[in-house]
Amino acid sequence: MTIALAIHGGCGTLPKAEMTDGEWAQARADLASSLRAGWAILTKGGGAVDAVEAAVRVMEDSPHFNAGHGAAFNADGDHELDASIMDGATLAAGALCGVRRIRNPVSAAKVLMLRGDPLLLAGAAGDIFAEHEGLDMVENDYFSTERRRKNLSSMKIRELVGTAGQASEAEKHGTVGAVACDAKGHLAAATSTGGYTNKPVGRVGDSPIIGAGTYARDGRCAVSGTGKGEYFIRYCVGHEIASLIAYKGLSLKEATDTVLGELGAHKIGAGLVAIGPDGGIVAPYNTDGMYRGWVTPDGLVHVATHGDVEVAGQA
Ligand code: ASP
Repeated sequence: MTIALAIHGGCGTLPKAEMTDGEWAQARADLASSLRAGWAILTKGGGAVDAVEAAVRVMEDSPHFNAGHGAAFNADGDHELDASIMDGATLAAGALCGVRRIRNPVSAAKVLMLRGDPLLLAGAAGDIFAEHEGLDMVENDYFSTERRRKNLSSMKIRELVGTAGQASEAEKHGTVGAVACDAKGHLAAATSTGGYTNKPVGRVGDSPIIGAGTYARDGRCAVSGTGKGEYFIRYCVGHEIASLIAYKGLSLKEATDTVLGELGAHKIGAGLVAIGPDGGIVAPYNTDGMYRGWVTPDGLVHVATHGDVEVAGQA
């Protein structure tokens, strides 16, 4: 069985001119580190669940992506984080929404999944669970960065002058996610996000909703999405793609293009990474760019932010 790994760091990529070459290089380096972390597990015969967790953790720790450190601010100037993980072999899953103190929400989602029941914990209950399980806890301002603070100020101004609807994808969005196929052919997906800048307090997106922003089922696909979560929930994006493959016999590319086309009709930014039952990878998006990357079967790391794909050496 071919092992496979793909990641995204959100479809809210900034226009190229808004970061220095050094900052872009750092973002690409963090994408490459995320892939190497996941690939190292897969090449040693480790499971897809552990690989997607490891890949997502690296992006949660990076300030460049809207998850963990670097997460978007909500309307109150705080961070409320959503994350989930799913094992395609067993359909076991774990998810947290609106948590405020867990350094790596994806790891808490995995621990919750391994506990078996409940599947989804909200708010303070999620934080208390993670603390109980001995996971790394932080103050809420650990997640703050200057760039996200500026995004919040500009969204507040846009709100006042009535131009919030015209905000760029980069001002609004982001999310990180990973999909993997391990040597046994098992699939897994994980997603983690701060949501969108200036989101209402208590708003929950698609990332912790199994079947919407995250889905994995052996023999069908593993999917992690990014974009306007409300639409990913309405279309049950992950599950819809799996169903198009299972019941209509579409290829992974046909299924993901179909669903992204439907989302695009609402003029919303959207993107995803997905792996098919044979380890095939797709990473479509309809925005100017999407932080993304994958490892080809020869072990070469590929990373991209806009149109060009960079080969970043061996994994
Ligand atoms: N899907 C995320 C959410 O709606 C945000 C994003 O990916 O841009 O919370």
